[in-house]
Amino acid sequence: MDPRPARRERLWRIAAVVAGVGSALGASIQLAVTLGFVESLPTPFVLGTILTSALVAAVVAALMVEHLVARRLRALSQFVDEADAGDFLLRIPVKGHGELAETSEALNRLLARITSLRGSMIDQSRELVRTREKLRLEETLAAKTTELEARLAERQLVFDLLRVSVTENELDKVLRELVTRIGTGLHLREAAIFLRAADGSRRYLVRAVHGFQAPQRVLGRLVEAGLGIAGEVARTGQPVVRTDVSDAPEYLAFWGEAVREGSFAAFPISLQGSLLGILGVTRDVSDPLTDAHLRLLGAIADQAALAIRHAQVVDELRALSTTDELTGLANRRALGRQLERELERAQRFHQAVSVIAIDIDHFKNLNDTCGHPTGDAALCAVAEHLQAVVRRIDTVARTGGEEFLVLLPGTTLDEALGVAEKLRVQVADHEIPGGATQPLGRLTISLGVAALLPGEDVAALLARADEALYAAKRHGRDRVERHDGTALSVPAPPSA
Ligand code: GH3
Ligand code: MG
Ligand code: MG
Repeated sequence: MDPRPARRERLWRIAAVVAGVGSALGASIQLAVTLGFVESLPTPFVLGTILTSALVAAVVAALMVEHLVARRLRALSQFVDEADAGDFLLRIPVKGHGELAETSEALNRLLARITSLRGSMIDQSRELVRTREKLRLEETLAAKTTELEARLAERQLVFDLLRVSVTENELDKVLRELVTRIGTGLHLREAAIFLRAADGSRRYLVRAVHGFQAPQRVLGRLVEAGLGIAGEVARTGQPVVRTDVSDAPEYLAFWGEAVREGSFAAFPISLQGSLLGILGVTRDVSDPLTDAHLRLLGAIADQAALAIRHAQVVDELRALSTTDELTGLANRRALGRQLERELERAQRFHQAVSVIAIDIDHFKNLNDTCGHPTGDAALCAVAEHLQAVVRRIDTVARTGGEEFLVLLPGTTLDEALGVAEKLRVQVADHEIPGGATQPLGRLTISLGVAALLPGEDVAALLARADEALYAAKRHGRDRVERHDGTALSVPAPPSA
């Protein structure tokens, strides 16, 4: 409690007593003079009486002041102190009328206002806490939503790549799809897919690119194992990441076609331990590759390996279905299609078309004498010689073990005979594996030629060429015979 009001109250009380005594004294003297006591009574008695009554009046006045004012003031002060200590719910009892009652009422109103003010302050601070919590939750939600969207986009990307791997068969298309989807999906600055060179060396060829200013200057470039960062991946089969290539002197920057800044990563594209290729990616310096990117790119490279291998297998199968595995020539299937096409065209436009049926002489002997592998080598050599003679528009096919057929579009029978003779000479004049052990001292072929007759079909044309071929066999081998549609050009073989 503040001591000042108490002292002031005491002063007031003393002042009241002094005022009471003074006024009582004055009133007594006045009364005494008025009633004429002063003259009849002895002076000491008068004075004593006056003083005594004045004292009584003063005490009574003091007690009245104490009762009426001071106690209520103390009670008021005590309420104020309690309110000051924080108990704003207290209310001062209002007794009677007058200034003190009014003061008490005013104080009660003040206390009521403070109470409601405190209440609204509490409400406001609660609201503030709630708002803060809401904001925090909203921020967390926004961050989670962004993260979720990123994860979804990544899943979509991996799913898209999976779809590419099962729906696309053409290798070049697969590579283009992969690099574009990866590049756009991960906001890469540049992306490139290198594939192992077909020659089986440890060189890697850029087969598909994304984001380059001049893609043609990057496509087809070769990376040697051990050279540059991609070359390092080719050498070790392990991914390499550079967060800032500006201080990586080994970085080749795609032969200068990419800026030498930002981040770069190269991932092996491997399947069952075999390195099929490399995925190289860059991101801007302002938005470099993160750990999340790297994790995803690692998974994507595995996915790309599946897609690439799938397309390669389909390519290989496709090639296998039209080419002869041993010699690389067209196989019977491919020849069949080609024959249908050319004969149809020749019939429609009344053009010439010829075929030459070829069979290696005494080939069984070569196999038996030199072994099957030499026989295979001889087959390949013959195939190469046949190919060397014909034009690009002609088709040379291996139709059986040691049998070949040449399709010559736009070629008359006479022209075809000339080609057949050239083929015979080409084979006979060249040293071919196992040739020396043959009955004639060299490897030879027999050939039967036929030109398409009007209205003739593929089977009939081939049958006539075969007939001519067997005629060549019968008449000594290492020779050309023809079937002109009427009769064979050679006399019947001498009877055995
Ligand atoms: P001809 O002069 O009458 O044609 O006698 P030929 O021995 O060539 O005829 P034949 O049909 O009796 O023998 C064909 C041989 O070709 C039999 C087979 O062993 C061989 N041959 C077939 N396909 C292959 C092959 O892919 N590789 C090898 N090395 N030999 C084959
Ligand atoms: Mg044969
Ligand atoms: Mg033969």
